[in-house]
Amino acid sequence: MENKNWQIFGHDWAVNLLRTHAGTDKLRHAYLIVGAQGVGKRTLALRFAQAINCENPPRQGDFCGVCKTCRQIGAMSHPDLDLLQPQEGHKDILIDQVRELQHRLSLSPYVAPFRIALLPDFQRTTTEAMNALLKTLEEPAEKVVLLLTADALENLLPTVVSRCELIRLRPASLKDASAYLQSFYDLTDEKAELFAHLSGGRIGAAIKLAQDPEELIRREKHLGDFLDLLPASLHERFKLANELSKPYDKAREKTAEVLPIWLSFWRDVFLCSFDSDLPLVNVDLTPQIEQVASHIDAGAARELVILHEKAFQQLDAYANVRLLIENLMLTWPRVNLTGSRG
Ligand SMILES: [Zn+2]
Repeated sequence: MENKNWQIFGHDWAVNLLRTHAGTDKLRHAYLIVGAQGVGKRTLALRFAQAINCENPPRQGDFCGVCKTCRQIGAMSHPDLDLLQPQEGHKDILIDQVRELQHRLSLSPYVAPFRIALLPDFQRTTTEAMNALLKTLEEPAEKVVLLLTADALENLLPTVVSRCELIRLRPASLKDASAYLQSFYDLTDEKAELFAHLSGGRIGAAIKLAQDPEELIRREKHLGDFLDLLPASLHERFKLANELSKPYDKAREKTAEVLPIWLSFWRDVFLCSFDSDLPLVNVDLTPQIEQVASHIDAGAARELVILHEKAFQQLDAYANVRLLIENLMLTWPRVNLTGSRG
């Protein structure tokens, strides 16, 4: 099937379904695209918005990509495209924002056939705001399409989910993700494989790694610091805790950057500790991961994963970021790593 302009990799069935909806009477008034961060939810939503409103669709369900509408939607600057996301300084979408959106959606579209509301990461919405949106989902205005995305169904009200056409996106296989990267970027086999592993097959996340060398440099630095601390004393470890917790107003942000990296390492150690055949994330550190795994049993590795996952959740609520990091560092085993880094 021809769907060249969509340029969506690994979600053919979703693209084909949406193509049969755009421009036909199958079009629903609300869609919910669910999947892990970086899997391609927002991109798919925007392509669908283009297909719904394109001025010169080359064929049923497709879009041209070059008309004014297509370009403006692609740049998220179309007058009939409303984007709803948390305001600066807020974690969640608030009820007042939903009410303002509802008012805008009650007006006819300015130029395009449909007014489209894009609500990415809708899990970041207060319960009362989700409840407020229910009214729109139940009695939508004509010529309105709502496109919601979320990381997981469990984080939404079931009443919201049941009123949407549900599209679930799964990560690509690591082999496919790596091949895809190499067809678009000039990457060695080794790099493409590493990016596929680091992103877990989430194409959006993999592209980000391929496009932004800074992302990889940050990872290298944080992993380097972390590996240096594995054989180190608490005194040495707490120096890094101190560093991460300063200045006070940046502590949360700095910690949020290192925590996922620590967690991914412990998850890899856990997988290694019971010879799981699931792929490692930090595939370039396989020797180090194996060494650490040989020092602790699967139960202890699992406990470390749980503690780091918990710390992730606590980071928003916890008053004392430094204490949170120190508590984690206390749980790390002391391991002397031999040999150079892979
Ligand atoms: Zn177009």
